[in-house]
Amino acid sequence: MSPIDLRSDTMTRPTQAMRAAMAIAEVGDDQFGEDPTVNCLQERAAELLGKEAALWFPTGTMANQVVLRLLTRPGDHVIVSQGSHAFWFETGGSGANAGVQLSEVGERGLFTAEDVLAAFKPRGHQFYPPTTLVEIENTHNRSGGIVFPAEEAERICRVAREHDLATYLDGARLWNAAVASGRTVAELARPFTLVTVALSKGLGAPGGSLLAGSRELMTRAVRFRRMAGGAMRQVGILAAAGLHALDHHLDRLADDHAHARDLAKFFQSCPGILLDPASVQTNIVVFDTRPPAPDAPTVVLRAKERGVLLYALSARTLRVVTHLDVTGDDCRRAAQILVDIVNEGE
Ligand SMILES: *Cc1c(COP(=O)(O)O)cnc(C)c1O
Repeated sequence: MSPIDLRSDTMTRPTQAMRAAMAIAEVGDDQFGEDPTVNCLQERAAELLGKEAALWFPTGTMANQVVLRLLTRPGDHVIVSQGSHAFWFETGGSGANAGVQLSEVGERGLFTAEDVLAAFKPRGHQFYPPTTLVEIENTHNRSGGIVFPAEEAERICRVAREHDLATYLDGARLWNAAVASGRTVAELARPFTLVTVALSKGLGAPGGSLLAGSRELMTRAVRFRRMAGGAMRQVGILAAAGLHALDHHLDRLADDHAHARDLAKFFQSCPGILLDPASVQTNIVVFDTRPPAPDAPTVVLRAKERGVLLYALSARTLRVVTHLDVTGDDCRRAAQILVDIVNEGE
């Protein structure tokens, strides 16, 4: 029997229907702007996100790097959330590719306009690196898929505009934030200069992210995308998967959220597990094990032997992610196995 894979929502495999859509996709050379399926997806994404234009990227990490090239200069200072993807999961790309310095602000993925003002460094100062960009991650991966409060995001963007800072919404899981908060992705993206969304996470496509913003910025982004090696050819095959996902996999994200809540409820009844139920807002559950329960790497090893895959974020912190390829029954079985392991102790 194949394992129940709760490591990430990137583990989803394309469904038969998605493969069928990919097989019949019309394609052309995207570097000449001639892939009709990519063009269609870009237009659809721009409309959904309420921006002038959108641009296809093979990965969200590349889009994040290109955003830095577009909105900053080497030596600039960029404000990001504590535990952000930019800081933790891009192998130092911000320094290597854009030459910028990142500061993590706030706590557990959230921060306030006041935090921005406290970290802000003015341009033209004799000593300071000038702050030119603020990044928000919504939902926040490392903090357990929490939704960034929309009102605070608007305040932050207002303060940023007043100080001539650009703003960027890393919305790899913005779809989840929209479903959880009952707002549209356009509403959540409205105050930001640029926004990205992923097709390869909860939506279940095999790849692809979209960057959206003004037409002028998207035109400039084409150069940096090529510089990063991300200009592709008949990529309509992947774009077709993205279009299929937008048609068929958006509304069902609510199921993933319900499964995550079920998992969390199960974990809460286990004294060896520390879990903040308020952090379970979308499809990610982050929890700690408390001694004498085994540490995170031990839980991962033992769970693997029993057919459950999950991810250790640190010595005592674990993450499970629900998605298209796990059912409610799978989640209940996995929860029982994990609770058993924790109860068995070291
Ligand atoms: C996954 C993720 C990315 C990067 O996406 P890839 O397509 O895996 O490179 C960026 N930001 C956040 C918040 C993510 O969760």
